[in-house]
Amino acid sequence: MLKDFLDIPRRNAAYRANRTSDFLDVEIRAGKAEILEQARRCMGCGIPFCHAYGCPLANNIPEFNAAVCGGRFEYAYKILSLTSPFPEFTSRICPALCEASCCAGLPSQPMAVKQTEFFIIENAFKNNLVRPRAPQSRNGRRVAVVGSGPSGLACADRLNEMGYEVCVFEKNSKAGGLLRYGIPNFKLEKDIIDRRIALMEDAGISFEYDVEIAKDVSLDFLKRKFGAVCLCVGAEEPRDLKIKGRELGGIHFALDFLGSQMRYLLREKDGLEISAKGKNVLIIGGGDTGSDCLGTAIRQGAKNVVQIEIMPEPPAERDASTPWPMWEYKKRTSSSHLEGGKRMWSVGSCEFLGEGGNVRALKAKRLSWKIENGRPKSFEEIEGSEFEIKADLVLLCMGFTGVKKSLAAENPELELTARGVFKTDAFGAAGIPKIFACGDAANGASLVVRAIASGRNLAENIDKNFATILQ
Ligand SMILES: Cc1cc2nc3c(=O)[nH]c(=O)nc-3n(C[C@H](O)[C@H](O)[C@H](O)COP(=O)(O)OP(=O)(O)OC[C@H]3O[C@@H](n4cnc5c(N)ncnc54)[C@H](O)[C@@H]3O)c2cc1C
Repeated sequence: MLKDFLDIPRRNAAYRANRTSDFLDVEIRAGKAEILEQARRCMGCGIPFCHAYGCPLANNIPEFNAAVCGGRFEYAYKILSLTSPFPEFTSRICPALCEASCCAGLPSQPMAVKQTEFFIIENAFKNNLVRPRAPQSRNGRRVAVVGSGPSGLACADRLNEMGYEVCVFEKNSKAGGLLRYGIPNFKLEKDIIDRRIALMEDAGISFEYDVEIAKDVSLDFLKRKFGAVCLCVGAEEPRDLKIKGRELGGIHFALDFLGSQMRYLLREKDGLEISAKGKNVLIIGGGDTGSDCLGTAIRQGAKNVVQIEIMPEPPAERDASTPWPMWEYKKRTSSSHLEGGKRMWSVGSCEFLGEGGNVRALKAKRLSWKIENGRPKSFEEIEGSEFEIKADLVLLCMGFTGVKKSLAAENPELELTARGVFKTDAFGAAGIPKIFACGDAANGASLVVRAIASGRNLAENIDKNFATILQ
């Protein structure tokens, strides 16, 4: 048992062959026997950094692994659900910060924590162990949660469990935020979200869809009707690329492209508003959003896809600048990258070139990066390195600059930070009475697991520090 982490190899994620002809989940899941074996690898651990350092939810990973090893799957689910409200989301799409800080990663390969988490939660659903988290009694206090992304859902779930009456306001027609309208089906199928929302409704949470706060209903109105208002509105403002030719047709923000695919799959729209079919697609931005656009463009039948990144190519393995147990700086290859397309690094964008009002190419330049202590510090353009990348569809995937400008403009009394998100104190209070913020709207664009942790923390803070003044 003690040396299992050396003797048993880690099971890496495996993907379906021929997966690009559909939008279904790409992963081949481990079976019970494999998961039992993988969980055993955890049992020789001395100090679980995964729990205290890696996981933002502080999941009790060694404890649920021990329960799985003993075949006590219901107990494993109980341990997992103590800290994690939605393991069905994180076990599919979390980059697994816990695995980067796993002790076994030092001499060997880290635990396959995410795969065990998936097994525990899906086994719990299969055996009807996942029940609505309704409170034993209500405390008569009402809270409005604005936004139904992972932070809003986590905040609503925890407040409801503690006895608050919670209403979630969402501008879209369905719940989930980026879980639904950003992250593609091949990473997270949407019936997984519907299944959770049904449980939350059964637990007594109400959802109001197609209501945009600050447009359809004012924040002041919510303040009058509720004891507290939690802004869980995400960081929706995309970073633009303001170079010559930006006004040409065929240049879109990533979320307009991904959202169009999602709305079509969800039958909210009859056709695709933006399609990559038969096109030369250029993705600007080498991160996760770019990778999701790549997988989507390939499934839509793109002729050719190129993904460019301004930063240099990271090292293949953990760089010394991010030693264990830190989140490692290294090159990441997603299931979409394995499906096709070309990746290029150290490429700067100079100008979009057009024809008949539509983009036809990007004029780009090679960059030379100065590396200090293993990390890129500054760059110079390489003279005479200009080249063209053919493109009749360009997708801008360069991150987000904060909360939607329109929402911030409607509520100038809410202060913003340099990252363009709501300024909050240590308790999540946003500077004016009754208003709180969490998730990407308070911390800047990040990860689902961090949004969930932030939503839960806000709910706990409201209960501990503000409950008596809420009416
Ligand atoms: C393409 C893409 C892929 C990603 N992939 C991953 C991944 O694989 N793993 C991962 O961990 N993270 C991923 N992320 C990041 C992750 O999705 C976000 O960090 C997370 O969703 C943030 O949660 P949130 O609740 O703070 O905000 P959001 O998910 O953005 O939710 C905000 C919600 O608020 C609603 N809203 C906004 N304004 C209003 C208003 N005025 N009135 C009413 N409702 C409003 C929005 O419609 C939305 O539903 C990805 C992000 C993108 C863009």
